[in-house]
Amino acid sequence: MKRIAVLTSGGDAPGMNAAIRAVVRTGLAKGWCMFGVRHGYAGLIAGEIFTLGARDVGGIIQQGGTMLGSARCPEFETVEGRMKALSQLCRHEIEALVVIGGNGSQAGAHALSLLGFPVVGVASTIDNDLYGSDVTIGVDTALNVSLEAIDRLKVTASSHHRAFLVEVMGRTCGYLALMAAIAGGADAVMIPEKETDPEVVATELRVAYDNGKAHAIVVVAEGARYNAEGMALYFQTHRERLGFELRMTRLGHVQRGGAPGSFDRLLGTLLGAAATERLADGKHGELVGLLKGEIAATPLAEVVTNRKTLDLGLLKLARTLAQ
Ligand code: ATP
Repeated sequence: MKRIAVLTSGGDAPGMNAAIRAVVRTGLAKGWCMFGVRHGYAGLIAGEIFTLGARDVGGIIQQGGTMLGSARCPEFETVEGRMKALSQLCRHEIEALVVIGGNGSQAGAHALSLLGFPVVGVASTIDNDLYGSDVTIGVDTALNVSLEAIDRLKVTASSHHRAFLVEVMGRTCGYLALMAAIAGGADAVMIPEKETDPEVVATELRVAYDNGKAHAIVVVAEGARYNAEGMALYFQTHRERLGFELRMTRLGHVQRGGAPGSFDRLLGTLLGAAATERLADGKHGELVGLLKGEIAATPLAEVVTNRKTLDLGLLKLARTLAQ
């Protein structure tokens, strides 16, 4: 009988619970003993490891966040921290670990696997900045939350002839911002991958105003040089030129909360189940993700040394459509 543990790490993402549930129940179906680790790598170092049965993961598939808790843990980035984690895993006789998380979490998973411990990663972050998965758990729900906010802001913006700067999350990745801009019908977008001069945005807003638009939406990524705050500051002295009155909304962590949609529940379930299957096949040191519509495994060594690129053709499309 195998003894397998699962943890969630980094920023929580809607759909993580579906992944935990799938890891645990597919493992139990194989006759394995399944364990949860509280609060990511911090809990691993502290030895917060406990058994998980089928009922323990019941009623969570529809919930956002993570029932295991998550954390950012600088100590795990040190060899000493990882050695402490390793000794806890040995103390609890855990034979393999499933790490559900984003970029940093998978760097941690790789570092642990380099110490000889079997680890399989599951691609989960709302930022969608993780190499090895075209789309990660949480992105779809976060995007829908952004769209709902943009749709609502358009209504109030129209009533007052305003332009809204809407800042969306994504750390240094502009994926969420770009997709929200396209699907939300925004008039301009600012992303870190290709910085836009605020003057260009000023012109785009003026054109929208002169074309008789009742409102304008500018989606800005939090990681862009001119994020919402930077843009608001820049436009403080240029406001008259825009035509519109300017307002700023930062969506922040609202995008991370809430119930996962169908896509994230299914993706979480499929990736969680795939992680268990990889371990059953004797595979580890890999990340399971969604590549070209298929569940696929990528070596963690490749995941941590490659950077996912954003299709900048879509930025051009966003501009073309903003007429
Ligand atoms: P998200 O981007 O969605 O917030 P993430 O997994 O990228 O998720 P991070 O805060 O970057 O979140 O990383 C989570 C944790 O992973 C860190 O707090 C740390 O414990 C561990 N980690 C990050 N980088 C490394 C590394 N190079 N080596 C070992 N552990 C790491």
